[in-house]
Amino acid sequence: MKYVSTRDNTKEYNFERVFIKGLADDGGLYVPISLKKYSTDELLELKNLNYNELSAEIINLFSSDFISKEELSFLIKKSYSTFREKEVVKISSVGELKLLELFHGPTLAFKDVAMQFIGNLYEYYLSKNDKKINIVVATSGDTGAAAIDAIKGKSNLNIFVLHPNNRISSVQRKIMTTVEEQNVFNIAINGNFDDCQNIVKQIFSDLEFSKSINMSGVNSINWARIIAQTVYYFFSYFKLDKETVSFSVPTGNFGDVFAGYLAKKMGLPIDKLIVATNENDILHRAISKGDYVSREVKETSSPSMDIQLASNFERLIYYINNSDSVKTADIMKKIKQNSYQIDKSNLEIIQKDFLSESCNEQETLDIIKKNYEENNMILDPHTAVGVGAANKLSINDCVVLSTAHPCKFPEATNNAINKNEKLPEELRYVLDKDENFQVLKNNVEEVKNFIKSKV
Ligand SMILES: *Cc1c(COP(=O)(O)O)cnc(C)c1O
Repeated sequence: MKYVSTRDNTKEYNFERVFIKGLADDGGLYVPISLKKYSTDELLELKNLNYNELSAEIINLFSSDFISKEELSFLIKKSYSTFREKEVVKISSVGELKLLELFHGPTLAFKDVAMQFIGNLYEYYLSKNDKKINIVVATSGDTGAAAIDAIKGKSNLNIFVLHPNNRISSVQRKIMTTVEEQNVFNIAINGNFDDCQNIVKQIFSDLEFSKSINMSGVNSINWARIIAQTVYYFFSYFKLDKETVSFSVPTGNFGDVFAGYLAKKMGLPIDKLIVATNENDILHRAISKGDYVSREVKETSSPSMDIQLASNFERLIYYINNSDSVKTADIMKKIKQNSYQIDKSNLEIIQKDFLSESCNEQETLDIIKKNYEENNMILDPHTAVGVGAANKLSINDCVVLSTAHPCKFPEATNNAINKNEKLPEELRYVLDKDENFQVLKNNVEEVKNFIKSKV
């Protein structure tokens, strides 16, 4: 499969470049030049595959010029052997809704599904290339932990993770900062997640610096992550045995829900994709009325969605504009000036596939409480936002993506119900272990100097 940048589709790239670089040099995101569209008969053939087999089928469509299907299958099996569920994900119910539990990996959030795979994909790449790679990534709380777990101890790889100081849950932080492996560096930035993401983007676009350290990115814009996430939309659709289903997706950077859009474009009979946001509701404003103007980031009990600039939205902009990269680049300029209003025709196209809703803090806590009382189930605050959005829209046959284990957010669930879920046995040690992270100013040069001193 060949790829192009959303901001200039005249040049083509292979999967290796897309995976290792993450972001195109022109600042755009990589997209494949074409997509397979499964027929109903072809979908039937996929229906009875187990999770690992299905992953290999789908990911191979995008990566076959980089890794053989056989080697890919081996990597996938290895990646998901670290999960507590044999079939990687699990489907449960809350009232009328289905929950797609994606948090059974080593760091208790859906990010593990893609990240465990990516870690092994790096290892595969380095087994064929005599190089040292430095991964630099910003996290709103869960990406960092998942990336660290996937990369720690792997040779010829370092990982630098920037998180917003004091703005993630204590359990989220401890899972990242108690890791002892020498190739892991945690940086707490005095700022919010958008600041962290901005620093990483600026370091990337300093081509001299980023080349000098062989910098690589595993943010949710990385195409390899997106395709690994597409798999569970297919898998859960097959398990539910309905003609069509809708998905409610707790959304921050628009990565997870974009993976669902990709599944739909590939022929999976998805009715609606519900973009569920917390009080940082730019995507809800955008999808419901075209208003894509970012405001001040608010801290909420669902910190992994405290985001105002959803990087992956650029891919949607590209697709709804018929893969026109000139137009996309133009819109991205407007977004940079924070003055983008989605025009009516584009909005109509978006609303064919997407609905949106937002839940404020009180609503989120109320949902956690109600579900605990009615179903004796503790929801994590992100999942609660997904449930809240689905309830507000009252859609039939709706699956809510359950993106994190509730034990990761004890502060939030204590607030709602005076209870918190215990960490799984094998992770309890992080609570008392010494943490290791460097606090830095919200300043690119400082971060660059820190990285330089470590590589
Ligand atoms: C990252 C994250 C999200 C948001 O996912 P995006 O792909 O950024 O939209 C939602 N919930 C949890 C628990 C997360 O870690």
